[in-house]
Amino acid sequence: MKLSKMHIKTLREVPAEAEIPSHILLLRTGMIRKLASGIYGFMPFGWRSVRKIEDIIRQEMDAAGGQEIHMSAIQPAELWQESGRWFAYGPELWRVKDRGGRDFCLGPTHEEIFTDIVRNDVSSYRQLPMNLYQIQTKYRDEARPRFGLMRSREFIMKDAYSFDRDFEGLDKSYDEMYKAYEKIFTRCGLTFRPVEADTGAIGGSNSHEFTALSEVGESEIAYCEKCSMAATTERAECVDAAAETESMLALEEVNTPGTKTIDEVAAFLGLDKTKTIKALLFVTYDDEGKEKEYVAAFVRGDRELNMTKLINALNIPEHAIEFADEEKMAAATGCVGGFTGPMGLHDCKIVVDSELPGLRNLCVGANKENYHIKNMNYGRDYEGDIVTDLKLLKEGDPCPVCGAPVKHARGIEVGQVFKLGTKYSESMNAIYKDENQKDRLIVMGCYGIGVTRTLSAIVEQHHDENGIIWPMSVAPYHVIITLVKPGDEEQAAVAEKIYDELMREGVEVLLDDRNERPGVKFKDADLLGIPVRITVGKRAPEGIVEYKLRRDNDKEEKTVEEAIKAAVEIVKAEK
Ligand code: ATP
Ligand code: MG
Repeated sequence: MKLSKMHIKTLREVPAEAEIPSHILLLRTGMIRKLASGIYGFMPFGWRSVRKIEDIIRQEMDAAGGQEIHMSAIQPAELWQESGRWFAYGPELWRVKDRGGRDFCLGPTHEEIFTDIVRNDVSSYRQLPMNLYQIQTKYRDEARPRFGLMRSREFIMKDAYSFDRDFEGLDKSYDEMYKAYEKIFTRCGLTFRPVEADTGAIGGSNSHEFTALSEVGESEIAYCEKCSMAATTERAECVDAAAETESMLALEEVNTPGTKTIDEVAAFLGLDKTKTIKALLFVTYDDEGKEKEYVAAFVRGDRELNMTKLINALNIPEHAIEFADEEKMAAATGCVGGFTGPMGLHDCKIVVDSELPGLRNLCVGANKENYHIKNMNYGRDYEGDIVTDLKLLKEGDPCPVCGAPVKHARGIEVGQVFKLGTKYSESMNAIYKDENQKDRLIVMGCYGIGVTRTLSAIVEQHHDENGIIWPMSVAPYHVIITLVKPGDEEQAAVAEKIYDELMREGVEVLLDDRNERPGVKFKDADLLGIPVRITVGKRAPEGIVEYKLRRDNDKEEKTVEEAIKAAVEIVKAEK
């Protein structure tokens, strides 16, 4: 393609809301264009890279036995009501009505639709296993769309669903998808780590996230260098502190004026924070959005509450819980903001972290303004309605598998695989007849890749101060020929010759024949990040051009033939 004929609009200035490199660069290169908050369109270069990612996914999904189909983005509410997610998915579900008032949603994911297809079409064990997938536009009315394609309200996802006869079959399907994902993200040029993940609103038992490592990522992962433990911090188990053996001392109410935080009370009483208990107060909501109950969660003072673990313990959707209004909760339960403890609380669910029962003589709020109680002991003085691990695994905490101190890293979740089991086949009655004509539930898995988020993640990992540095496999074009003086006939002829020959070799090539200053062209070539640049300038009449890889600093003079050969070779090796 000749740049003089192309629709290209690079920007010198980008809107201030673009904070991270991938968002800035995708806007500056003109690859994406914003239509509304979290809604983007793709311009020629951007769309070419999206399609390359899609092609890689398609090839690996097909190789793993997937069959591509394409479903509508619009889904009837009835299917979501059947699975129970019309409520569970919450305000992220983009609901719409048709002119007759019938409810629909713009699909954020397609478990219901694929389960519906399979329950209608599959009747015998002979038709299983099966893996269906699509690459399709998804909608989620995110509370905080941000970072461009990273968290948008409309995005492209590859979603696959596996259907097996039994759990053994599911394990195999899951494993195949896991391996296909490793190939896909490797081919996309990403440095990534598969980590154990929470199953969230989609449900199911077992899950991994594929995390592209990046400082700007919204996922926090914990991993161990001594063993293979790696999990999102949401999911990671946290080892309880060893149970203490000291004898229980008598309760003691102490005056602690104005000490509302753990830091304040620990400092005031001269206690280590590990000798205190922290309270966190919540209210939950029912299916109709009405207040359901108050919840007080207790963890050791130096720990942090892991919200995902609390939500899972309560078995409620993420959107059905909020921090409580302390005054309102006080009237109903007897808690006192800043001085809440488990003793004497009423009409409130008490959730206690699993290590607290083993600890002795802790200090906690007295449910009385300006007072704490010392020597509080589980069993003797208070009990929990639920006792479970509620702790966030912090950097340096012992690894739940081997005990070595864990490390933390940030990353971008580019894909996730789930073992759904029979969650959807049960609620939607997807059954097949086995060898003995007995009805059995189909066992399912689901597997997502954020195609457009992957594009952002690639840019995040491959750029410098001058622009993007595309890996060959996903570059919008492989080679850019920079023609220094388009008016010079000899230069133009050499550039055209290289252009024609590269195209004949199947190389995707751009010819920058615009009437622009060379400096502008070099800047744009760097910004766009085309992997190979061949500059045709002064020495063209002698058959000499300049050859440069975007990822390297040095340039080399080569004959026209050498430059063509080098370009063809590197493109073939890396595309
Ligand atoms: P997140 O935790 O980031 O909100 P999720 O776990 O809800 O994502 P999944 O339901 O697992 O996402 O969706 C599959 C994939 O789709 C994700 O791994 C991610 O790559 C992509 N994705 C999810 N939400 C968005 C979004 N708002 N914008 C762009 N891509 C997204
Ligand atoms: Mg996910």
